[in-house]
Amino acid sequence: MKCPLVLNEVDERIWRDELEEYVPQRIYDVHSHLYRFAFNLDPNRDTGPYKKFVGEHWVDVPAELADACDALLMPGRKVSRLAFPFPFPYPCEFAASNEWVARETAKDAASASLMLAHPKMSDEEAEAELDRGGHLGFKPYRFYSATGDAVNCRITDFLPERLIALADRRGLIVMMHISKRDAIADEENLRDLEALSAKYPRVKWILAHCARSYSHWAIERAAPVLRKLPNLWYDVSSVCESDAIDALLQAVGDERVMYGSDDVPVGVLRGKYVAFGFAWAYLSETNQSLSLVHCDGRMTFTRYEQLRAMRRASLRLGQTKQQIEALFHDTAAGLIESVRSGR
Ligand SMILES: [Zn+2]
Repeated sequence: MKCPLVLNEVDERIWRDELEEYVPQRIYDVHSHLYRFAFNLDPNRDTGPYKKFVGEHWVDVPAELADACDALLMPGRKVSRLAFPFPFPYPCEFAASNEWVARETAKDAASASLMLAHPKMSDEEAEAELDRGGHLGFKPYRFYSATGDAVNCRITDFLPERLIALADRRGLIVMMHISKRDAIADEENLRDLEALSAKYPRVKWILAHCARSYSHWAIERAAPVLRKLPNLWYDVSSVCESDAIDALLQAVGDERVMYGSDDVPVGVLRGKYVAFGFAWAYLSETNQSLSLVHCDGRMTFTRYEQLRAMRRASLRLGQTKQQIEALFHDTAAGLIESVRSGR
């Protein structure tokens, strides 16, 4: 399958001068989305907010498309992935989404899938879906919060405790995009994580986007609590500030941190997540009117900004080749293997 992306000189220069030597040959991407835009059942989907984001250039995303993007952006690398559907808000075609990601990840023996899970799903439905797709766990999302508030919801508002108990019985992964304005620095989130991991020790949580800490402060504030919890892992997908990745590695050590791309489409879009104050925002070529005449104002892929940030953090912390290989592959491969074998 042909990748619709085209590299420009900015991309080529960043890859050649900064990334080519840093990015290892074997990669396990623990945060990727495989989906079809048709699974968004919003009757107004052709005028809705997802039309521009995914419905124009990233309409159908099978494994071959993600592979083609990887081959273009990280040439020669062997990539396996932990993938899940795109969490379209209700109404979303959940069953077909989960079936699609199961079928697409089955094309590579090392890849695996997580299923979208939401509070309206019964335990029986969730069990049947897990068995049907061979999924290794759940991808809940804050949009599905039973409170109707996607910004201030607690973990159990969008992943009911009974589904966490089910994940515990089966020793599954939960890919968790933490909610709330202070994200992982929020006291209630930390208390919930502490309590849930004590009560359900067999659940393997992956806290997405550096525990949703796009700069250093949130993860630094959370570190004393997180450090004590043995069943948490982290992905660095779409985090573009080296301070955030540096702070995460210092907070939880380098044995729990994994590469993820947030493709498709975040990693393959041109732009960057920037942090300021206690905020973070996505800056793209089209959502700002900065005057950039004093420099080359072209933007590169979010993925490259993230890889640059990872490299800066690795350099600053003096990571060895082996530690960098663990970050990009070995830790994730070990985690997936442990879930598959029921350890
Ligand atoms: Zn994502």
